[in-house]
Amino acid sequence: MKQSRVRLYVDHPLALGQSVPVSQTQAHYLFAVMRLTPGDVILVFNGRDGEFPAEIKQAGKRRGLLECQAQSRPLVMPPDLWLLFAPIKKARTAFIVEKAAEMGAAKIMPVRTDFTNSERLRRDRLQAHALEAAEQCGATYVPEVTDLVKLDQLLTDWPEDRQIMFCDETLAGAAQTLADNSSQKWAILIGPEGGFSKPEHTRLRAMKQAHAVSLGPRILRADTAAIAALTLWQTTLGDWA
Ligand code: SAH
Repeated sequence: MKQSRVRLYVDHPLALGQSVPVSQTQAHYLFAVMRLTPGDVILVFNGRDGEFPAEIKQAGKRRGLLECQAQSRPLVMPPDLWLLFAPIKKARTAFIVEKAAEMGAAKIMPVRTDFTNSERLRRDRLQAHALEAAEQCGATYVPEVTDLVKLDQLLTDWPEDRQIMFCDETLAGAAQTLADNSSQKWAILIGPEGGFSKPEHTRLRAMKQAHAVSLGPRILRADTAAIAALTLWQTTLGDWA
């Protein structure tokens, strides 16, 4: 028997003594790629019940069975932070989703802005990236990746009590940064390569929930901006403090 470093997301209830079937893809990974055998112990989580060591009970070519031991870590929710970003090229969009999950965003929302030009979005693929990121970074929670929504529509229905950290490239170089704020609910908004349109900019500047911030004196690419913004938010208002 060995304690493996493998950490797997499973879409199944977890509790002490609970049997958990593994999918065909997971069976392939666990038994063919990682060469694990019955008696070996891995870690599993489902985004709801925390993390559990689980012993391999059956290892087949296409299926397998695990059994949960005592919970190793409780569910830890990230701060109530959404990341809104305009999708860019496929690989960079996937990168943003992966990093947002690692950095502790609670929800990841691709938005269509006036200057967004991206191919069709594969929500399921992006969700899988968030899941893999959670598996490898030790998170017990997996952020939801939503379908592409129009920024315009989103702002029309924007909740009264959710603040927006509006990353405004026109402020590059200004000393405007994130001020302390007691609100618990936040969203970070990152624009596309072309930046925000004039009407979007005007509208955002007029919203009382929006806080325009600069991310320093250089214009960052959207993927860099997303990580910088998440870092700034987490250190100022989030769970790094
Ligand atoms: N084409 C635009 C830059 C867009 S950068 C221009 O040249 O002005 C993509 C997005 O990253 C921006 O919409 C903004 O949300 C964010 N961003 C990049 N650099 C930034 C900075 N220095 N300050 C604030 N936001 C920034």
